Amino acid sequence: MKFENDPLAAFWMPFTANRAYKAHPRQLASAKDMHYVTDQGARILDGTAGLWCVNAGHCRAPIVEAIRKTAGELDFAPVFQLGHPLAFELATRLARLMPEGLDRIFFTNSGSESVDTALKIALAYQRARGQGTRTRLIGRERGYHGVGFGGISVGGIVNNRRQFGTLLTGVDHMSHTHNLEHNAFTRGQPNWGAHLADDLERIVGLHGAETIAAVIVEPMAGSTGVLVPPVGYLERLREICDRHGILLIFDEVITAFGRVGGATAAGTFGVTPDIITMAKGLTNAAVPMGAVAVRRSVHDAIVEGAADGIELFHGYTYSGHPLAAAAALATLDLYRDEGLFDRATELGGYWEDAVHSLRGKRHVIDVRTIGIVAGIELEPRPGAPTKRATELFQKCFDAGLLVRATGDIIALSPPLILETAHIDEMVGRIAALLATVD
Ligand code: PLP
Repeated sequence: MKFENDPLAAFWMPFTANRAYKAHPRQLASAKDMHYVTDQGARILDGTAGLWCVNAGHCRAPIVEAIRKTAGELDFAPVFQLGHPLAFELATRLARLMPEGLDRIFFTNSGSESVDTALKIALAYQRARGQGTRTRLIGRERGYHGVGFGGISVGGIVNNRRQFGTLLTGVDHMSHTHNLEHNAFTRGQPNWGAHLADDLERIVGLHGAETIAAVIVEPMAGSTGVLVPPVGYLERLREICDRHGILLIFDEVITAFGRVGGATAAGTFGVTPDIITMAKGLTNAAVPMGAVAVRRSVHDAIVEGAADGIELFHGYTYSGHPLAAAAALATLDLYRDEGLFDRATELGGYWEDAVHSLRGKRHVIDVRTIGIVAGIELEPRPGAPTKRATELFQKCFDAGLLVRATGDIIALSPPLILETAHIDEMVGRIAALLATVD
């Protein structure tokens, strides 16, 4: 057996080039605030808030303390026909942060579970209101909605789909909104592209509105390289959904909790969906947790309209887990006390100017920014797409900066506690290293 004595062999790493990683491992040993420290003792500036999730910075004392305390008091409590106060308190706190009307909260353990939960709630809702023919789910090309069968079915990334058979039936996809010809080097929302929402009308025309339960989109698509919604696009989606009785789901696993300013992208963009999925920043990633915020009327149609007994046959052993709930409550306190949802406004201008200074650097064909997020798109190397960004990622890491490479795009989404000096360091490193990549 080739790897028998190899301590790295047994862990089959997710979304990782396992053979390449195990030949050249990059191990993180500890973290504090804006930095990771590797097992070799190197300090790495975290340009990605882990995986878009450590919004308040690493190992924050109040969160650590809340987890520690709860672990000693209530390690686990079922929430099937039982409950515990932290989960109820957290649901109430979260409901207050959500846009008006979305005040019923279902807990999950991840973004993927939040997405599958939202899709199931949409189907159950349509059935409960006597619209049981509405079984189709509509996603969008380049959408990332996690890795459950529901999420990859509505998702629009071919590599996440092609290994796994036929997926859910009755799913269709709108076209994505990315267009460099019209929108390259946009700051904030691009002006061109609201009409792309009309693709939903095409799908309604093809299948019939009475067959469609819900549409799911990321208000800002993160994982496929920071695709910012054109001005008017989300508003138009909302109008079309209303006209046809279709639920609108925003997947805010990345955008909630300050990433684009405010508690949600829905609030920032001024468009209220019927369901919002969350995870990541909810607990500052210190304990896995996700949540789904649901419009009260959707909840009531399912819960109030049901006969006696269980109304929704769905849930996870760890829904509302005490440690996660404690971490989330401490996280929400930190976000409030440190004003972290305002950072996108306070620092946004500096961030935008700094990242857009990469325009004109070698290989850079687009820079796009919103909130404290940036996508830097590189021209693909002829015959070797993605290699340039992968090499830049490795060079950045070796130079003490963590960035995320997705396709030929470098995505930045640092913790919201960052200061201007961190921005200068990130952009300076990337500028210098771009010159060294072929
Ligand atoms: N939805 C969106 C928009 C995401 O960005 C992600 C993860 O990046 C997910 C869902 C899946 O979340 P998880 O990896 O926690 O399952």
